Amino acid sequence: MRPEILFDLFKSVTSLQGVGPRNAVTLENATGGNRLVDLLWHLPVNIIDRRYAPKITEAQTGIVATITVQVLKHKKSPNRRAPYKVECGDDMGKLTLVFFHAHEDYLRKVLPEGETRVVSGIVENFSGALQMTHPDHIGTLEDIEKLQAIEPVYGLTAGLTLKTISKAIRAALDMVPELPEWLDGAQCSQQGWSGWKATLLEAHNPDGSSALEPNATPRLRLAYDELLANQLALAVVRRTLRRQKGRAIKTTGKLSEIVLGALPFQLTPSQITALEEISTDMSGNERMLRLLQGDVGSGKTIVALLAMLGAIEAGHQSAIMAPTEILARQHLSTITPLVEACGLNVVFLSGREKGKTRKSVLESISSGTAHIIIGTHALFQDDVEFFDLAFAVIDEQHRFGVHQRLTLAAKGRAVDMLVMTATPIPRTLMLTAYGDLEVSRLTEKPAGRLPVDTRVMPIERLDHVIDGLRRSIETGARIYWVCPLVEQSEKIDAAAAEERHKYLVSQFGIPRVGLVHGRLKGAQKDAVMADFKTGNLDILVATTVIEVGVDVPEATIMVIEHAERYGLSQLHQLRGRIGRGSGTSVCLLLYASPLGAMAKKRLKILRETEDGFLIAEEDLRLRGAGELLGTRQSGLPEFHIADLANHGDLLATARRDAQLILERDPELSSERGKALRVLLYLFECDAAVKNLRSG
Ligand code: ADP
Ligand code: MG
Repeated sequence: MRPEILFDLFKSVTSLQGVGPRNAVTLENATGGNRLVDLLWHLPVNIIDRRYAPKITEAQTGIVATITVQVLKHKKSPNRRAPYKVECGDDMGKLTLVFFHAHEDYLRKVLPEGETRVVSGIVENFSGALQMTHPDHIGTLEDIEKLQAIEPVYGLTAGLTLKTISKAIRAALDMVPELPEWLDGAQCSQQGWSGWKATLLEAHNPDGSSALEPNATPRLRLAYDELLANQLALAVVRRTLRRQKGRAIKTTGKLSEIVLGALPFQLTPSQITALEEISTDMSGNERMLRLLQGDVGSGKTIVALLAMLGAIEAGHQSAIMAPTEILARQHLSTITPLVEACGLNVVFLSGREKGKTRKSVLESISSGTAHIIIGTHALFQDDVEFFDLAFAVIDEQHRFGVHQRLTLAAKGRAVDMLVMTATPIPRTLMLTAYGDLEVSRLTEKPAGRLPVDTRVMPIERLDHVIDGLRRSIETGARIYWVCPLVEQSEKIDAAAAEERHKYLVSQFGIPRVGLVHGRLKGAQKDAVMADFKTGNLDILVATTVIEVGVDVPEATIMVIEHAERYGLSQLHQLRGRIGRGSGTSVCLLLYASPLGAMAKKRLKILRETEDGFLIAEEDLRLRGAGELLGTRQSGLPEFHIADLANHGDLLATARRDAQLILERDPELSSERGKALRVLLYLFECDAAVKNLRSG
């Protein structure tokens, strides 16, 4: 349970005075959350320097100045459209404050005639007279210190003003408690780091633009806190897995030999190496936790299957889980014929199995008559009981969170886990997502892959694209048309895809163009995919539900709309759907002009290389980790403050620190250990704390 000291920070922003439900929405759009902590992590992106405080006559125009004036006279023009003016002055000069759509009552209240006021804003010269249009701030002499200062500027979204968010953040900062120090004292003094609360306040009160840099001292500390929480959480979880003894699985090779013999190809050297690494892990007493990394089409599935057979040979059950129904079904259709000759019972479980079917599948899983269990998240559910699960494969791992990974692990007695990903995660990122995970890599170019001719062009050339497709279809080409991710909403994505589908139908005729998106029912999706696979459809319009993993070798053309919105790795994965068959494949990246310099650079990388690792590293360099995989789907931890492009070395330190901490205080029960528990809760690593005794 979250410690009481943090309760306030996890309250809704509506608990702050002046924040109602409407502001809560705009604040959430800007900060990504609706609690006080979300405001705290929203650090300033800029500053306005209001320290310039000249006399009126000396005021430089065009820049922000904070001026102390005497309010002289309110002037309401009889012409309704003319602005409302308030004449002010100091001992030397005159300054007119100008307001459009003014509320006279309000202005008379904040600027009473005859009083002294402090106003801050940009001074302009309007045909010889000095004026300030809509001062940003108006205050009394008492406020001068607050006004004549550096004001932080926060990232905003539509409908949210700087005033509103600043006020909310100030209010949230007022609620911040003093927390016990979780960092090592020596490290803090060496780095010049203050305590957490002081650091947070400092980060929200930048004293100049250099304080906005990712390597400004307060930001470094906050980033370090976050990375330490991440690494400590992973280390705790990892240790729990390790502590549960694994069991030595004695494979006989009897089943895998049958399957190997029936394969129409030889394993590649890296597939063989990966299998050796996996079986070494399996035969050992420790629990296996290994990542199998390989580009799309590099042949991870067969490696997984052969490893699964090893556990079955030893008398146990194996499971493989994919993040989507489509992918899981694809595994089913690949695996079933391969193991037929072995007499194994393969069962399938997804959210779609209901009633009797579901019951009988569950029964075969719990009675042990099912040898291989293939499915989706449904395998995590509480009512799924395994007879003797010894080996679990998680495909396309990055879509699953740490929690889910652990839930499946907990389902068996000492389950060995193999997680598979096509995402070429750079080492730095790997550490944040998995901690120290053993890695096997499939490095050969995927079997039978041909280079894809990648072209980048503006959407304005759509007509030209359509003409080209028409010619290709005549020669029998099959085409993926990928519609953009518009919003954080499947509904809106689906609508965009529907519109594009309509248009393409108008161009090519109904029977030839199919549509698949996340809002379709499972059976509908399957039917469309099947039609595309068999060639009943020439064009498949899709949102990114044409998942990494879908295999239609006949598809040789892919059009990706709004390619500039995708992460490079995501584009790379999408592109991996083509170039699998015999013909030359073409990938058209359509962008909406104008294309920024950065976007241009990024798309150029894709045109130049098909090396997934190179692409990922470049993307990390150009955009930073958050965007690398397309955050929406990455499942990698998203950091609030830490930024791996800048804080990679802090991550390494945090990792060492986390290890050291656990060596000395495995249950986090010392004084510092208790503070570290608060840190874990602060960064919402609650699941990790549960792995501690008396957690
Ligand atoms: P991924 O790594 O994307 O999951 P798959 O396992 O789906 O890749 O494999 C892609 C295709 O390559 C499949 O049709 C598979 O049968 C084939 N394949 C796998 N290993 C080899 C190999 N060593 N030689 C030739 N083809 C292979
Ligand atoms: Mg795959």
